[in-house]
Amino acid sequence: MSKQLQAVRGMNDILPAQIGAWQHLEQVLRGLLQDYGYEELRVPVVERTELFRRSIGEFTDIVEKEMYTFEDAGGDSLTLRPEATAGIARAVIANGLLRGARLKLWTSGPMFRHERPQQGRFRQFHQFSVEAIGFAGPDVDAELIALGTRLWARLGIARVRLLLNSLGTSAARQRYRAALLDYFRAHAGALDADSQRRLTGNPLRILDSKNPGMRALIDAAPLLTDHLDEESRAHFAALCALLDGLGIAYTINPRLVRGLDYYSRTVFEWVTDALGAQDAVCSGGRYDGLVEQLGAEPTPGVGFALGVERVVELIRQAGTAGEPRPPAVYVIASGARAAGQALLVSEQLRSALPGLGVQMNLGGGNFKAQFRRADRSGACLALILGDAELERGVAAVKPLRREAGQSECALPELADRIRKMLEEESWTST
Ligand code: ATP
Ligand code: MG
Repeated sequence: MSKQLQAVRGMNDILPAQIGAWQHLEQVLRGLLQDYGYEELRVPVVERTELFRRSIGEFTDIVEKEMYTFEDAGGDSLTLRPEATAGIARAVIANGLLRGARLKLWTSGPMFRHERPQQGRFRQFHQFSVEAIGFAGPDVDAELIALGTRLWARLGIARVRLLLNSLGTSAARQRYRAALLDYFRAHAGALDADSQRRLTGNPLRILDSKNPGMRALIDAAPLLTDHLDEESRAHFAALCALLDGLGIAYTINPRLVRGLDYYSRTVFEWVTDALGAQDAVCSGGRYDGLVEQLGAEPTPGVGFALGVERVVELIRQAGTAGEPRPPAVYVIASGARAAGQALLVSEQLRSALPGLGVQMNLGGGNFKAQFRRADRSGACLALILGDAELERGVAAVKPLRREAGQSECALPELADRIRKMLEEESWTST
């Protein structure tokens, strides 16, 4: 026998039994984004490799070692997107949407990073990416954070905490970088291999180390907050005041940095203690330099990326996703003529009762077997079509969720009768 084909390591199938939480998140978030005036845009999953090198930055984990990069048949170097902000920025520039405009956009879909697969960390994972381009803030920063806060409330997720920091302008970061370099060089012997590598490329990334052995050294490092420029300081203070006014709780974490180079000023992250080591569920910040870095006129931006798999797990834990919706009616056919009629009657019911769920018994089977399937489907009513009854122009309807006899109904009145019975059974379509 040939070997069974498996999915690529770190890339998951999402099965019908799991999809409820996904759809719940997607539905709630879509509604919320619409409420806040964000519009959806869809960008390709594949981009030129250069886009990510120029935006995310050469000395980041993503670009250094996590990208799925390949040469296509035409010899172009292409990459499966590791995140969506770069693609969105490219899209608004390339489609001429910028020109001083103020854009509120979102996209969602799979992202790809060649990381070590583990709980909460995959090679294909999914993000919702929410971006406001053309707003200098800090009002838009605050509104974005309010959107996120409202999302947790709507999803019934309580175990998340908001961390906040400011990275300042890139000039301020250069000054801070110099101070950090001095500090870490003085302690070079205590750095792990990852941090050694970051020391030459991007010493800020050392602060993002997940190695507990590096904790003490990092905790004693100089603070970015002490090197902030005046404008960034004011921006951050204004943001904090706006959040205070909204009653949104946050913790200022002067060690919070992001793994992508394009961030400046505000950075934030919602973390949870419910998922073990992978504690970041939604991460974002300002990227005032990104659009210019990609060759267009300087345009501020701010956004966040939500890790769908991690939030889905929180929804699962909270048990707020709801069960899959069973059909309202299961259609059973007994006899050769009835079997021929069942498809037509089911179609008529679907026209008359849209959104209710009419499931027809497929593949035949004796009456008993069909009834068992009707029961297992979770339907509220069984509609029974029999040859003799059809001869008289009637069908039988029987409640399935309680002890009750069946009653006959003339075919033209079937939809009305079913609607009425569903009401009597207090059946809701949601
Ligand atoms: P982490 O610190 O967990 O590596 P990150 O800083 O690389 O995250 P971002 O690039 O900011 O994360 O991505 C935003 C969100 O996407 C994260 O908060 C997380 O929820 C999710 N995420 C990132 N990488 C993965 C992955 N490999 N698998 C699943 N979710 C991920
Ligand atoms: Mg990462």
